[in-house]
Amino acid sequence: MITVTDLLQRSVELSPASDTALLDTELLLCAVLGESRAWLKTWPDKQLNDDHIKNFSLLFERRLRGEPIAFIIGSQGFWTLDLSVSPDTLIPRPETEMLVEAALGLDLAQNATILDLGTGTGAIALALASEHTDWQLSAVDVQLQAVELAERNRQQHQLSNVKIYCSDWFTAVAKVEPQKLFDLIISNPPYIESNDSHLFEGDVRFEPASALVSGAEGLDDLKIIIGQSSGFLKPRGWLMVEHGHQQGPEVRGLFDKAGYESIETRRDYNELERITLGRLQS
Ligand code: GLN
Repeated sequence: MITVTDLLQRSVELSPASDTALLDTELLLCAVLGESRAWLKTWPDKQLNDDHIKNFSLLFERRLRGEPIAFIIGSQGFWTLDLSVSPDTLIPRPETEMLVEAALGLDLAQNATILDLGTGTGAIALALASEHTDWQLSAVDVQLQAVELAERNRQQHQLSNVKIYCSDWFTAVAKVEPQKLFDLIISNPPYIESNDSHLFEGDVRFEPASALVSGAEGLDDLKIIIGQSSGFLKPRGWLMVEHGHQQGPEVRGLFDKAGYESIETRRDYNELERITLGRLQS
Protein backbone atom coordinates (compact mmCIF):
# COMPACT_ATOMS: atom_id res chain seq x y z
CA MET A 1 0.00 0.00 0.00
CA ILE A 2 1.53 3.26 -1.11
CA THR A 3 0.21 6.58 0.13
CA VAL A 4 0.62 10.27 -0.75
CA THR A 5 3.15 10.60 2.08
CA ASP A 6 5.18 7.67 0.74
CA LEU A 7 5.53 9.20 -2.71
CA LEU A 8 6.35 12.64 -1.33
CA GLN A 9 9.20 11.07 0.61
CA ARG A 10 10.91 10.42 -2.72
CA SER A 11 11.72 14.16 -2.71
CA VAL A 12 14.97 13.35 -0.85
CA GLU A 13 16.25 11.75 -4.08
CA LEU A 14 15.72 15.09 -5.82
CA SER A 15 17.52 17.24 -3.26
CA PRO A 16 20.92 17.08 -4.98
CA ALA A 17 19.37 18.21 -8.29
CA SER A 18 16.82 20.79 -7.13
CA ASP A 19 16.61 23.52 -4.48
CA THR A 20 12.87 22.97 -4.33
CA ALA A 21 12.77 19.18 -4.14
CA LEU A 22 9.64 18.82 -1.99
CA LEU A 23 7.68 21.44 -3.92
CA ASP A 24 8.71 19.81 -7.22
CA THR A 25 7.59 16.40 -5.96
CA GLU A 26 4.25 17.82 -4.79
CA LEU A 27 3.66 19.51 -8.15
CA LEU A 28 4.38 16.28 -10.04
CA LEU A 29 2.02 14.31 -7.83
CA CYS A 30 -0.65 17.01 -8.22
CA ALA A 31 -0.29 16.72 -12.01
CA VAL A 32 -0.71 12.93 -11.87
CA LEU A 33 -3.72 13.06 -9.54
CA GLY A 34 -5.34 16.19 -10.98
CA GLU A 35 -5.49 17.57 -7.45
CA SER A 36 -4.16 20.65 -5.64
CA ARG A 37 -1.32 20.89 -3.11
CA ALA A 38 -3.96 21.63 -0.46
CA TRP A 39 -5.55 18.27 -1.33
CA LEU A 40 -2.21 16.49 -0.78
CA LYS A 41 -1.94 18.09 2.66
CA THR A 42 -5.50 17.13 3.51
CA TRP A 43 -5.17 13.46 2.45
CA PRO A 44 -1.61 12.35 3.34
CA ASP A 45 -2.74 8.76 3.98
CA LYS A 46 -4.72 8.37 0.77
CA GLN A 47 -3.77 5.15 -1.03
CA LEU A 48 -2.67 5.48 -4.62
CA ASN A 49 -3.41 3.02 -7.40
CA ASP A 50 -0.88 1.41 -9.73
CA ASP A 51 -1.49 3.85 -12.58
CA HIS A 52 -0.88 6.83 -10.31
CA ILE A 53 2.32 5.31 -9.00
CA LYS A 54 3.60 4.43 -12.47
CA ASN A 55 2.76 7.84 -13.94
CA PHE A 56 4.34 9.62 -11.01
CA SER A 57 7.53 7.59 -11.41
CA LEU A 58 7.79 8.50 -15.11
CA LEU A 59 7.49 12.24 -14.35
CA PHE A 60 9.77 11.99 -11.34
CA GLU A 61 12.52 10.32 -13.42
CA ARG A 62 12.35 13.22 -15.89
CA ARG A 63 12.84 15.71 -13.06
CA LEU A 64 15.74 13.63 -11.73
CA ARG A 65 17.37 14.03 -15.14
CA GLY A 66 17.06 17.82 -14.74
CA GLU A 67 14.07 18.68 -16.92
CA PRO A 68 12.24 21.78 -15.61
CA ILE A 69 8.97 21.16 -13.77
CA ALA A 70 7.13 23.55 -16.11
CA PHE A 71 8.05 21.45 -19.17
CA ILE A 72 7.09 18.21 -17.42
CA ILE A 73 3.66 19.42 -16.35
CA GLY A 74 3.24 21.74 -19.36
CA SER A 75 2.34 24.92 -17.53
CA GLN A 76 3.69 27.71 -15.39
CA GLY A 77 2.00 30.35 -13.27
CA PHE A 78 2.80 33.96 -14.22
CA TRP A 79 1.11 36.96 -12.63
CA THR A 80 -2.46 35.73 -12.13
CA LEU A 81 -2.44 33.45 -15.17
CA ASP A 82 -1.67 29.79 -15.68
CA LEU A 83 0.22 29.60 -18.99
CA SER A 84 0.97 26.65 -21.23
CA VAL A 85 4.69 26.30 -21.89
CA SER A 86 6.75 24.29 -24.37
CA PRO A 87 10.44 23.67 -25.04
CA ASP A 88 10.15 26.18 -27.92
CA THR A 89 10.20 29.14 -25.53
CA LEU A 90 11.53 30.43 -22.25
CA ILE A 91 9.64 29.46 -19.10
CA PRO A 92 8.21 32.71 -17.64
CA ARG A 93 10.28 33.83 -14.64
CA PRO A 94 9.04 35.46 -11.41
CA GLU A 95 11.43 38.40 -11.92
CA THR A 96 9.74 39.21 -15.22
CA GLU A 97 6.58 39.99 -13.24
CA MET A 98 8.50 43.15 -12.29
CA LEU A 99 8.12 44.37 -15.86
CA VAL A 100 4.37 43.88 -15.59
CA GLU A 101 4.28 45.69 -12.25
CA ALA A 102 6.38 48.58 -13.58
CA ALA A 103 4.17 48.92 -16.68
CA LEU A 104 1.04 48.99 -14.52
CA GLY A 105 2.69 51.77 -12.49
CA LEU A 106 3.10 54.06 -15.52
CA ASP A 107 0.43 56.66 -16.05
CA LEU A 108 -0.73 55.22 -19.38
CA ALA A 109 -3.87 56.31 -21.23
CA GLN A 110 -7.02 54.28 -20.73
CA ASN A 111 -6.80 52.96 -24.31
CA ALA A 112 -3.00 52.74 -24.43
CA THR A 113 -1.26 50.81 -27.21
CA ILE A 114 1.52 48.47 -26.08
CA LEU A 115 3.99 46.28 -27.99
CA ASP A 116 5.59 43.21 -26.33
CA LEU A 117 8.70 42.13 -28.26
CA GLY A 118 9.73 38.46 -28.01
CA THR A 119 6.56 37.44 -26.24
CA GLY A 120 7.35 33.69 -25.92
CA THR A 121 4.41 32.19 -24.04
CA GLY A 122 2.69 35.59 -24.23
CA ALA A 123 3.32 36.14 -20.52
CA ILE A 124 3.90 39.92 -20.38
CA ALA A 125 1.28 40.89 -22.96
CA LEU A 126 -1.39 38.59 -21.55
CA ALA A 127 -0.76 39.73 -17.97
CA LEU A 128 -1.11 43.40 -19.00
CA ALA A 129 -4.16 42.64 -21.14
CA SER A 130 -5.82 40.87 -18.22
CA GLU A 131 -5.30 43.89 -15.94
CA HIS A 132 -6.49 46.51 -18.45
CA THR A 133 -9.04 45.24 -20.90
CA ASP A 134 -9.12 48.66 -22.64
CA TRP A 135 -5.41 48.54 -23.43
CA GLN A 136 -4.57 47.26 -26.92
CA LEU A 137 -1.67 44.83 -26.84
CA SER A 138 0.45 43.68 -29.76
CA ALA A 139 2.79 40.78 -29.07
CA VAL A 140 5.39 39.45 -31.50
CA ASP A 141 7.90 36.63 -31.60
CA VAL A 142 10.32 35.47 -34.28
CA GLN A 143 9.49 31.80 -33.60
CA LEU A 144 6.28 30.60 -35.18
CA GLN A 145 5.91 27.94 -32.46
CA ALA A 146 6.02 30.69 -29.84
CA VAL A 147 3.39 32.72 -31.70
CA GLU A 148 1.12 29.67 -31.80
CA LEU A 149 1.69 28.95 -28.12
CA ALA A 150 1.02 32.56 -27.10
CA GLU A 151 -2.14 32.52 -29.21
CA ARG A 152 -3.33 29.35 -27.44
CA ASN A 153 -2.68 31.03 -24.09
CA ARG A 154 -4.58 34.10 -25.28
CA GLN A 155 -7.58 31.99 -26.24
CA GLN A 156 -7.39 30.03 -23.00
CA HIS A 157 -7.71 33.25 -21.01
CA GLN A 158 -10.19 34.81 -23.48
CA LEU A 159 -8.23 38.03 -23.86
CA SER A 160 -9.61 39.72 -26.97
CA ASN A 161 -7.39 42.82 -26.64
CA VAL A 162 -4.15 41.10 -27.72
CA LYS A 163 -2.96 40.69 -31.31
CA ILE A 164 -0.16 38.13 -31.68
CA TYR A 165 1.98 37.71 -34.80
CA CYS A 166 5.36 36.68 -36.13
CA SER A 167 8.06 39.33 -36.33
CA ASP A 168 11.83 39.46 -35.90
CA TRP A 169 11.80 42.38 -33.43
CA PHE A 170 10.31 45.30 -35.40
CA THR A 171 10.69 43.93 -38.94
CA ALA A 172 7.04 42.96 -39.53
CA VAL A 173 5.40 45.48 -37.21
CA ALA A 174 5.02 48.29 -39.76
CA LYS A 175 3.62 45.83 -42.32
CA VAL A 176 1.12 44.17 -40.00
CA GLU A 177 0.06 47.37 -38.23
CA PRO A 178 0.88 50.22 -40.62
CA GLN A 179 1.25 53.68 -39.08
CA LYS A 180 0.65 52.34 -35.58
CA LEU A 181 2.63 54.00 -32.79
CA PHE A 182 2.79 52.70 -29.25
CA ASP A 183 2.55 54.28 -25.80
CA LEU A 184 4.82 51.56 -24.41
CA ILE A 185 7.24 49.03 -25.87
CA ILE A 186 8.15 46.30 -23.42
CA SER A 187 10.49 43.32 -23.77
CA ASN A 188 12.27 40.50 -22.00
CA PRO A 189 14.74 39.68 -24.79
CA PRO A 190 17.59 37.16 -24.74
CA TYR A 191 20.46 38.81 -22.84
CA ILE A 192 22.85 36.09 -21.66
CA GLU A 193 26.48 36.13 -22.84
CA SER A 194 27.17 33.27 -25.26
CA ASN A 195 29.92 31.79 -23.07
CA ASP A 196 28.09 32.18 -19.73
CA SER A 197 28.67 29.01 -17.69
CA HIS A 198 25.18 29.13 -16.18
CA LEU A 199 23.79 28.00 -19.57
CA PHE A 200 25.14 24.54 -18.78
CA GLU A 201 23.53 24.22 -15.35
CA GLY A 202 20.04 23.44 -14.12
CA ASP A 203 16.76 24.21 -15.87
CA VAL A 204 18.10 26.56 -18.58
CA ARG A 205 19.80 23.59 -20.32
CA PHE A 206 16.33 22.57 -21.50
CA GLU A 207 15.30 26.00 -22.82
CA PRO A 208 16.05 27.18 -26.37
CA ALA A 209 19.32 29.12 -26.70
CA SER A 210 17.53 31.54 -29.05
CA ALA A 211 15.47 32.79 -26.10
CA LEU A 212 18.46 33.15 -23.79
CA VAL A 213 21.67 34.02 -25.61
CA SER A 214 22.47 37.26 -27.40
CA GLY A 215 26.04 37.48 -28.62
CA ALA A 216 29.33 37.69 -26.76
CA GLU A 217 28.17 40.41 -24.35
CA GLY A 218 24.51 39.43 -24.27
CA LEU A 219 23.63 42.84 -25.70
CA ASP A 220 23.01 42.18 -29.41
CA ASP A 221 19.21 42.08 -29.15
CA LEU A 222 18.97 44.85 -26.56
CA LYS A 223 20.93 47.08 -28.97
CA ILE A 224 18.45 46.42 -31.79
CA ILE A 225 15.40 46.93 -29.57
CA ILE A 226 16.65 50.09 -27.87
CA GLY A 227 18.13 51.48 -31.09
CA GLN A 228 15.00 51.01 -33.22
CA SER A 229 12.18 51.55 -30.73
CA SER A 230 11.90 55.34 -31.10
CA GLY A 231 10.50 54.87 -34.63
CA PHE A 232 7.55 52.93 -33.20
CA LEU A 233 6.72 55.04 -30.14
CA LYS A 234 4.41 58.00 -29.74
CA PRO A 235 6.11 61.22 -28.57
CA ARG A 236 6.81 60.80 -24.83
CA GLY A 237 6.24 57.03 -25.16
CA TRP A 238 7.94 54.57 -22.81
CA LEU A 239 10.45 51.79 -23.42
CA MET A 240 11.02 49.15 -20.75
CA VAL A 241 13.35 46.12 -20.94
CA GLU A 242 14.58 43.32 -18.75
CA HIS A 243 18.35 42.73 -18.81
CA GLY A 244 21.23 40.97 -17.07
CA HIS A 245 22.22 42.21 -13.62
CA GLN A 246 25.59 43.47 -14.85
CA GLN A 247 24.21 45.19 -17.94
CA GLY A 248 22.62 48.23 -16.21
CA PRO A 249 25.32 50.78 -17.14
CA GLU A 250 25.46 49.67 -20.81
CA VAL A 251 21.68 49.57 -21.11
CA ARG A 252 21.29 53.05 -19.60
CA GLY A 253 23.93 54.25 -22.08
CA LEU A 254 21.99 52.75 -24.99
CA PHE A 255 18.76 54.42 -23.79
CA ASP A 256 20.55 57.76 -23.56
CA LYS A 257 22.07 57.42 -27.04
CA ALA A 258 18.65 56.53 -28.49
CA GLY A 259 17.05 59.75 -27.19
CA TYR A 260 15.37 58.62 -23.96
CA GLU A 261 15.08 60.61 -20.74
CA SER A 262 13.93 59.81 -17.18
CA ILE A 263 16.09 56.69 -17.55
CA GLU A 264 15.82 54.48 -14.50
CA THR A 265 16.99 50.98 -13.55
CA ARG A 266 15.12 48.92 -10.96
CA ARG A 267 16.37 46.00 -8.92
CA ASP A 268 14.78 42.55 -8.63
CA TYR A 269 13.94 40.59 -5.46
CA ASN A 270 17.62 39.64 -5.17
CA GLU A 271 18.59 43.33 -5.19
CA LEU A 272 20.15 42.94 -8.66
CA GLU A 273 19.66 45.50 -11.44
CA ARG A 274 17.06 43.85 -13.66
CA ILE A 275 14.87 46.29 -15.61
CA THR A 276 15.49 49.66 -17.21
CA LEU A 277 12.90 52.11 -18.47
CA GLY A 278 12.96 55.47 -20.12
CA ARG A 279 10.72 57.98 -21.83
CA LEU A 280 11.19 59.23 -25.37
CA GLN A 281 12.05 62.93 -25.48
CA SER A 282 9.36 65.04 -27.14
N1 GLN B 1 16.75 35.59 -16.50
C1 GLN B 1 16.93 34.45 -17.35
C2 GLN B 1 18.00 33.53 -16.79
O1 GLN B 1 18.96 34.00 -16.25
C3 GLN B 1 17.31 34.86 -18.74
C4 GLN B 1 16.16 35.42 -19.43
C5 GLN B 1 16.52 36.10 -20.72
O2 GLN B 1 17.57 35.89 -21.33
N2 GLN B 1 15.63 36.92 -21.13
O3 GLN B 1 17.87 32.33 -16.88
